[in-house]
Amino acid sequence: MIQAPRGTFDILPEDAPQRKLVEIEAERVLGAAGYRRIETPTFEATELFARGVGETTDIVQKEMYTFDDGGGRSLTLRPEGTAPVCRAYLEHGMHKLPQPVKLWYLSSFFRAEAPQRGRYRQFWQVGAEAIGSDAAETDAELIVLLADLLDTVGVRHDRLRLSSLGTPATRAEYREELKAYLHAHEDQLADEVRNRIDLNPMRAFDSGDAGTQAVMRDAPKLLDRLAPDDAEHFARVRALLDDAGLSYELDPTLVRGMDYYTRTVFEFTSDELGAQSGVGGGGRYDGLIELLDGPPTPASGWAAGIERMLLAARELPQAADLVDLYVALATGDGARTAFDLAVEARRAGLQAQLELAGRSLKGQLRHAGRIGARYVAIIGDDGVATLKDMESGEQHDTGVRDVIPEILRAGRVL
Ligand code: AMP
Repeated sequence: MIQAPRGTFDILPEDAPQRKLVEIEAERVLGAAGYRRIETPTFEATELFARGVGETTDIVQKEMYTFDDGGGRSLTLRPEGTAPVCRAYLEHGMHKLPQPVKLWYLSSFFRAEAPQRGRYRQFWQVGAEAIGSDAAETDAELIVLLADLLDTVGVRHDRLRLSSLGTPATRAEYREELKAYLHAHEDQLADEVRNRIDLNPMRAFDSGDAGTQAVMRDAPKLLDRLAPDDAEHFARVRALLDDAGLSYELDPTLVRGMDYYTRTVFEFTSDELGAQSGVGGGGRYDGLIELLDGPPTPASGWAAGIERMLLAARELPQAADLVDLYVALATGDGARTAFDLAVEARRAGLQAQLELAGRSLKGQLRHAGRIGARYVAIIGDDGVATLKDMESGEQHDTGVRDVIPEILRAGRVL
């Protein structure tokens, strides 16, 4: 039997209501703040991600599904949404609109990662981007919106980690300082940390090794090295979050998987999730639009994983399927009449289903009960139908033509 590829999953009808709820809430929460929906193509020129996300990132080096389009152009299934949205912003001249341009999306993304609970090769994200504002208010607003969304979806035990990365120049200088510090304490570091000092010195902050942790307690922190205007920006973001009553932990070791971040970065995690604890995150990316050949344009945004949100949420109420009318057959003769009645009922705005499996009358009534039909019309001979109210059990004969008006008159349709 052919199965879905490793790391992918089917969204079955019973999964749909919960996912729909996330979409409705995203639309409501983000729409209320002036964000408008955008959808970009599933694949893009590979160069967009190589440049936008960064050549040296794990995403670009190891995780992209890249293919030749048959004409010598390299395309890639989108691994993230920010670079595509920025491309669309430039391509459609949105920099000429009043700024910031606020956009949101809900789409699927693709990363060739090792699959595990909460980590898939095709997954869904809802994301928001505000392009064209450098205000701390923009960052704080985006963070509050994500907090509100997680809240309405019922994500449990979430925590907000917050930091600032300053500018690329500050970061490069800090990196050198940290490398020098680590080299000076090489003998106290775990082997795997020592071997990666020059490659990825920030990883040392995440080490579980006691010796390394002792060294890292006194290590220089990027947050203490921010340039004055970056530090001021960050202080304002924090003050605004305080005003909004949002609690957060300052985490100077917070690093994210893309090169484009500047200044504010943040991540919501949930203790419900185990190893893959990130529910959603993002930050400011003031250099990205320029990197994509646009004018210098400050911007900020986030993305949150739908599957992780649902894994971390309490059981959501399942919306019952709606069936106003089930059209059953007493004999085979009424099949066309039954078909016509179902079509007309739908045109009249009712949710109507038709017997399609050749069941006995008893079987049809049992099935109608199972799917929660409010009424059953049993088509008999000569334009007569028996209309049964499934709730009260009451039934009476009526003309087939009167079935729809009677149901509408009863006014108890779902
Ligand atoms: P990122 O685009 O890496 O900042 O990820 C944003 C959010 O998307 C994460 O917090 C996760 O909720 C979700 N996410 C990222 N990668 C995956 C994946 N491979 N499978 C499922 N969800 C993911």
